[in-house]
Amino acid sequence: MIIVMNHDATDAQIGSVVNKIRDFGLDANISRGTERTVIGAIGDERKLDPEMFDSLSGVEYSMHIVKQYKIVSRESHKHDSIIDAGGVPIGGNRIQIIGGPCSVETPEQMDLSAQYVSAAGGRLMRGGAFKPRTSPYTFQGNGEEGLKMFREAADKYKLRIVTELMDARMLDTFLKYDVDVIQIGTRSMQNFELLKEVGRINKPVILKRGMSATISEWLMAAEYIAAGGNHNIIFCERGIRTFETAYRNVLDVTCIPVLKKETHLPVIVDPSHAGGKAWMVPALARAAIAAGADGLLVEMHPNPCEAWCDADQALNPQEFESLMGSLKGIAEVIGRSL
Ligand code: PEP
Ligand code: MN
Repeated sequence: MIIVMNHDATDAQIGSVVNKIRDFGLDANISRGTERTVIGAIGDERKLDPEMFDSLSGVEYSMHIVKQYKIVSRESHKHDSIIDAGGVPIGGNRIQIIGGPCSVETPEQMDLSAQYVSAAGGRLMRGGAFKPRTSPYTFQGNGEEGLKMFREAADKYKLRIVTELMDARMLDTFLKYDVDVIQIGTRSMQNFELLKEVGRINKPVILKRGMSATISEWLMAAEYIAAGGNHNIIFCERGIRTFETAYRNVLDVTCIPVLKKETHLPVIVDPSHAGGKAWMVPALARAAIAAGADGLLVEMHPNPCEAWCDADQALNPQEFESLMGSLKGIAEVIGRSL
């Protein structure tokens, strides 16, 4: 961290900044220029924050010089990490497509969904048993009963399950049904207590981007999970909020190469919640894979018109299958496989 002093800062003011740095166990290096004095904090500066210095008299501004995230950063781990999702690798050469309905509805719907995901070549299936709905009066998910239905359908077709955790109190129930990948939704990305809880276990976590979160906030949210000991994290871009109203969210394709540079962890994309319409999903999905995403989270329903949740954006099984086919071609061109 460096602290830039005002041009007329006194020796006493410089001294109090130095003392504050030393109080946190770091060394201070004072560099006196002709216009300004700049003080550098030497040591693990993550303990420090600009807020600690900006309010001191004589300080013009202060700033970090190293990244605030550590475990998830590529600086700390050069090679791409591959996450083991119940025996299925996420990251690395192989692209994984996670398909399934927005929500777990009935045993029949889950059985059919699993059958279609498996027939299309999918190894992981999505489906929400606990749904974060905007209105408290709409379907909130089948809860534990939904997890049971999901587990049974997935086991029959040897699929791994991906489902959203909204409340840390349900974590034991998730473990009871051996959820393979825990999804943290966009609305929970900065629920730090929830992040700390999933940080204590060793199940893979898909961390969706908060709908208005910056990349740095997203990386810091991942660091919360990693700091607890769980490094099995997968980033998922699902569209961000902008001034545009022609579609549900704006898919931030740019974040894919940026995250790939900043972190060693896999990055997947949810084109369904980005576009919000089924017809947009194939184009967004292809763009994501071409831009380097390690996988997709796609909503697919055996009968979209009858879906209890997000009916507009669900692909039907045929559309899902044909998407898988078109992605294979893109994967080959970029030297990957599906
Ligand atoms: C979901 O994937 O089921 C979901 C609710 O997505 P998001 O958190 O991105 O809105
Ligand atoms: Mn949905």
